[in-house]
Amino acid sequence: MPSKVDMDKIVSLCKRRGFVFPSSEIYGGLASCWDYGPVGVELKRNVKEAWWKAVVHERDDVVGLDTSIMMHPGVWAASGHIDNFTDPLVECKSCHLRWRADAIEGKKCPKCGGELTEPRMFNLMFKTSMGPVEEEANTIYLRPETAQGIFVNFENVVTTSRKKLPLGIAQIGKSFRNEITPGNFIFRTREFEHMEVEYFVRPGTDEKWLDYWVKERFDWYVKLGIKKENLRLRRHGKDELAHYARDCYDIEYLFPMGWSELEGIANRGDFDLTQHAKCSGKELSYHDAEAGEKYVPYVIEPSAGVDRSVLAFLVDAYDEEEVEKEKRTVLHLHPSLAPIKVAVLPLSRNEKLTPLAKEVFKQLCPSFVTDYDDSQSIGRRYRRQDEIGTPFCVTIDFESLEDKQVTIRDRDSLAQIRVPVEGLEKVIAAKLKGEAFDASTLWSTREK
Ligand code: ATP
Repeated sequence: MPSKVDMDKIVSLCKRRGFVFPSSEIYGGLASCWDYGPVGVELKRNVKEAWWKAVVHERDDVVGLDTSIMMHPGVWAASGHIDNFTDPLVECKSCHLRWRADAIEGKKCPKCGGELTEPRMFNLMFKTSMGPVEEEANTIYLRPETAQGIFVNFENVVTTSRKKLPLGIAQIGKSFRNEITPGNFIFRTREFEHMEVEYFVRPGTDEKWLDYWVKERFDWYVKLGIKKENLRLRRHGKDELAHYARDCYDIEYLFPMGWSELEGIANRGDFDLTQHAKCSGKELSYHDAEAGEKYVPYVIEPSAGVDRSVLAFLVDAYDEEEVEKEKRTVLHLHPSLAPIKVAVLPLSRNEKLTPLAKEVFKQLCPSFVTDYDDSQSIGRRYRRQDEIGTPFCVTIDFESLEDKQVTIRDRDSLAQIRVPVEGLEKVIAAKLKGEAFDASTLWSTREK
């Protein structure tokens, strides 16, 4: 079953409306690097906030952390990344394009059919050097995952948060991987953002907690509007498990190029804490006062990509519909993810309408991300708001000057209701939460 939308449409909408631009575009761009525009940055922030709210603020067993991108190189030796974070690379002897050997079929170059070199293992970590002298001893790495910043702070967090196990530590931040074949827009890039939880549990309870987090994370996407039929779970075969993993599930999404990983939930066992204890010489175990024992916790890791989630939310929300014999493109984004919650649109730029329209804007903007737009025809402005997924548009017309009422247009149903200006904020707040709101309750305030 193919996805209903092709990637070109998403890329073009993102460029046209200010979600995502090619990086360094005026210099011809930089392969697989992207910049988030004015509405893209709002969407991305909303995705991160929804995740943080669900995994940190709405729970009492997870706390947050924000660690440094550059870490002591010993971290990456201990974690196994220097030896094992590799992909098999082959190069075409004719056109010199490089490929990930496990991502292509057959033994010929997919581009020109040329002969390929034998695979060699290519480390995906970006190397740089710290300080003014560029020498081997100063080599450091840009982190390829945020997880290690959490493991090396395990002791700090347990001591200062005074929490008992099971305890999760969550982090959102940039990661870097020198991918051999990046591509598919923001799906696979060399610089991206991770949203990761390391959930520390008592050994023996790890399988139960793995199941728990798989369900929890799957449901998060569904709650935020992703259609269930576009999501599926895939358990890793023993031969594909990462060097640190005892078990792993991928949540896959039906992207335009086919089913692909959206998030991985792994059982990392005690691999990381044991390695860091061994290599740093510091004891990293947990004293369980209730059970009266000391152990190295096992870790369940839900690890998601911010950019890949943004792409999934965009693809899933994208729709083309026919309205009054005209095509409209609309993003049915969940209200909590929509970059702009409400747009204030005076019918025209007529100077009589402007004061009331500005008053409406002033009333709404402290509570919601609000756009004010009085350029072009009202039809074009509705189209723009539909394409960036704005749930509600408020229109001010000449009648509004008489009766102090404005029209709210619903992005999805296209239904329009008239409500008094005075109570607008309450109505929008209720509607954004999906609550029914009886606008007639506002009349009593107006008649005072
Ligand atoms: P893949 O198999 O696609 O390379 P992975 O299994 O190496 O991914 P993890 O290390 O499990 O990925 O990272 C967790 C999540 O981080 C992925 O599910 C994805 O959402 C995101 N992610 C990983 N690599 C990239 C990348 N190069 N660009 C964008 N997002 C990424």
